[in-house]
Amino acid sequence: MTTKMNKKLYIETLGCQMNKSDSELIAGLLQDEGYQLTEDPRQANLLIINTCSIRATAEDKAYSYLGVWGKMKRANPDIKIVMCGCVAQQAKDDVFKRAPYVDLVFGTHNIHQLPELIKSLDNEDRLCAVTTTPVEPSSDYTVKRQDGISAWLPIIEGCDYFCTYCIVPYTRGRQRSRKPEDILREAEDIAKHGFKEIILLGQTVDSYGNDCDDPDINLANLLKEIHKIDDILRIRFVTSYPADITDNLIETVKNLSKVCEYFHIPVQAGNNAVLKRMKRRYTREEYIELVNKIRKSMPNVSITSDFITGFPGETEEQFEDTLGIIDEIVFDHCNTAAYSPRKRTPAATWDDQISQEVKKQRLNRLNDKVKESVIKSNQRFLNTTTEVLVENKKEENNKIILSGRTRENKIVHFESEQDLMGRLVNVQINEASIWCLKGDLT
Ligand code: SF4
Repeated sequence: MTTKMNKKLYIETLGCQMNKSDSELIAGLLQDEGYQLTEDPRQANLLIINTCSIRATAEDKAYSYLGVWGKMKRANPDIKIVMCGCVAQQAKDDVFKRAPYVDLVFGTHNIHQLPELIKSLDNEDRLCAVTTTPVEPSSDYTVKRQDGISAWLPIIEGCDYFCTYCIVPYTRGRQRSRKPEDILREAEDIAKHGFKEIILLGQTVDSYGNDCDDPDINLANLLKEIHKIDDILRIRFVTSYPADITDNLIETVKNLSKVCEYFHIPVQAGNNAVLKRMKRRYTREEYIELVNKIRKSMPNVSITSDFITGFPGETEEQFEDTLGIIDEIVFDHCNTAAYSPRKRTPAATWDDQISQEVKKQRLNRLNDKVKESVIKSNQRFLNTTTEVLVENKKEENNKIILSGRTRENKIVHFESEQDLMGRLVNVQINEASIWCLKGDLT
């Protein structure tokens, strides 16, 4: 039997920041039950994989971890194996068919039930808890964040947009904004634990409050409240949906000194016909106009984006429009992916799927274009002095090498004689590569 002394928990997290944030919540809930986190799965008696289903490769990766853990369980049958996250939400008890050694499957809405579910495994061989509506916590709970300078804070869950390629509205449910008072309490707690930066999280973070009756519940007002917390030096928010960014939000970001000039705004494609088939609710022209408006307000702002290539029916000309928008905007960073059909989404059923070969070839061309854009963007920092929040340190040849991020979310490395972790410092930039900037402390 597992005693309180040897309850060891290992969590493998795949996918987006929302999953990482959920894993922190899971760790906190189980810590309250006496579990200690370990970084070595071989030391753990409870193994949890928090899965992502945005692409087929991420789903396959989850089952590959389970396969390895299944072998460990054959040698030590007391190990409990748990699957959660978006794959669990979709597959439910079908997970047991593909991975019969799994003990518990729980969905994205059932995280707060986890301590009870784990206890129930003492009397049950296996359990599946997947609901389509959230099971709310019965009392206060702890979020066990990884130590660091930056903390994620989820403010809105789910999504109402149903883009034709995306699984999120099916796995995470409809949009649900958290209460401002709960968010502010958690933000105060984050500050008390020594974090210096808060990153507000949501699949469509700037639609925060759209599902509430009170018009004062919105992202701009939330930023103003979090801005008042003394020990927090910086605030960011991700991910933005282009049509949700209001003039009020732009003005608020501009006026609040702690809110960084950084917008992650997925455009996905640069051609209007493709955007329409994706059911994105903006045109190429509207997206460009939005970016111009933000840049007019904050000239140094960083604009990053996501792209999908090889969407069903995408022609060579349409793909070239996507390459063209990268040239036109010059993004600071982009996540790119070849389209991956996901069950239950409309686009997966369409018969004009693009071959793997063409998808791969277009993805390579897209990545080359993104590299050109990022290099151009990084070079604008050369010979400037920029504010950096120090997040990491390492020692090399008796020197301390520090790294951190600029307000625009660029990574900067520089030498220092002192440990400046968690401090805001000024760095003169003298090297710009695709991955990072390098400079000297001023
Ligand atoms: S807005 Fe984002 S999360 Fe929502 S359906 Fe579209 S791609 Fe998915």
